[in-house]
Amino acid sequence: MKLGADYIDVELQVAREFIDSIQQEKPNNFKVIVSSHNYKKTPSLEDLGSLVAKIQATGADIVKIATAALDITDVARVFQVLVYSQVPIIGLVMNDRGFICRLLCPKYGGYLTFGTLEEGIVSAPGQPTIKDLLNLYNFRQIGPDTKVFGIIGNPVGNSKLPALYNELFKAVGFDAIYVPLLVDDPTKFLDTYSSSDIGGFSVTIPHKEAVFKYCDEVDPVARATGAVNFVVRRSDGKLCGYNTDCYAAISAIEDGLLSLHNDSSTVGSRLAGKLFVVIGAGGVGKALAYGAKQKGARIVIANRSYDRARELADCVGGQAVSLAALENFHPEDGMILANATPIGMQPKVDETPIPKHALRYYSLVFDAVYKPRMTRLLREAEESGAAIVPGLEMFIRQAYEQYEGFTGLPAPKERIRKILAAN
Ligand code: NAP
Repeated sequence: MKLGADYIDVELQVAREFIDSIQQEKPNNFKVIVSSHNYKKTPSLEDLGSLVAKIQATGADIVKIATAALDITDVARVFQVLVYSQVPIIGLVMNDRGFICRLLCPKYGGYLTFGTLEEGIVSAPGQPTIKDLLNLYNFRQIGPDTKVFGIIGNPVGNSKLPALYNELFKAVGFDAIYVPLLVDDPTKFLDTYSSSDIGGFSVTIPHKEAVFKYCDEVDPVARATGAVNFVVRRSDGKLCGYNTDCYAAISAIEDGLLSLHNDSSTVGSRLAGKLFVVIGAGGVGKALAYGAKQKGARIVIANRSYDRARELADCVGGQAVSLAALENFHPEDGMILANATPIGMQPKVDETPIPKHALRYYSLVFDAVYKPRMTRLLREAEESGAAIVPGLEMFIRQAYEQYEGFTGLPAPKERIRKILAAN
């Protein structure tokens, strides 16, 4: 087997050359990292600059600074240091509020980031796993031109959206990353991260109203509800706010009604003339009440705080009832019920906003809660003979809208549905 022997010879030769080369190079390529850790805070930009100069003066080949984030805006100062550094620099901000630094450092010129082998086993707070860096955040693809999107809220750690959008961006080669943005003060956040690098945001509890006030322009639903859940930065730098809660929930309910009647002959909306009962008067409650009113439904609002129910009912020309009164509320059959409260959400999955016996007057029940997918309310509604529309359907439809807003590309609807249904 001469060929085999030749092959092995070549292999051995290559291996020998490689060993020789690293033995020669190793001492020459030795680099020294000089590091500074501040576990209490992230100093001012001026102090960070002095610190880098001091480390550089030691003869360090690579400068490392690790600071602690008290607020997500602290990270911006470290990004500035990375951008302007003349020497190789590792700049990392610890804690959950500094998390984006660990993901976005390659965009701003950082030398490296750290990944852990296992979740929760970290050498500094806030480190992601190597699996998440590579697979969830496509870390290897991040560069100076990568556009940044994310979800602003508190909490945001369990959001499914980074997994969704990063997979979709990668699939179409869109140079962007979607990150969780743990924000305490939305005004401060938006003032700080105002560059065109940041292309847009999803917005969740509790910042929908504050971000609405910050936007340069908003769509009619956002204006009517005073809340935005989706913001895009236009090429002229203006922030445009949208409320996709309304379209997503109302279109899902209309499609649910279509399947209930199993014909598509109705002209106009199937909601027209229906009695539409909304439980909740927060962001989603307002969006549902506004959207259903636009479609010609008659609106009833039930809310824990009756005053808020009254206020919303007045806005949409509807009726307010107390949450307790809903049990005996049955002016007619075939009503539509929409839960826009967190009642029944994990971990309190045994809770429901309305007793089962009262559900027999409803032809369709929608629940905005999507964790779990089948809430107690939906299960009992189905057992009572109503059609049901789960909150996941609303969630999926919002993703269509937001993907198109972020990328300017048509939403891959089947793929979005598949990813979100699987998570
Ligand atoms: P929000 O603005 O904070 O409003 C919450 C509403 O729920 C308020 O009307 C509040 O009543 C009521 N509420 C809260 N806890 C309650 C309790 N223990 N008992 C009775 N009423 C209670 O929240 P939101 O943005 O409208 O969200 C509402 C729900 O929709 C949440 O569960 C959220 O997860 C879900 N959601 C789903 C989607 C989706 O795509 N499926 C999207 C967004 C939100 P008071 O006025 O008395 O405080």
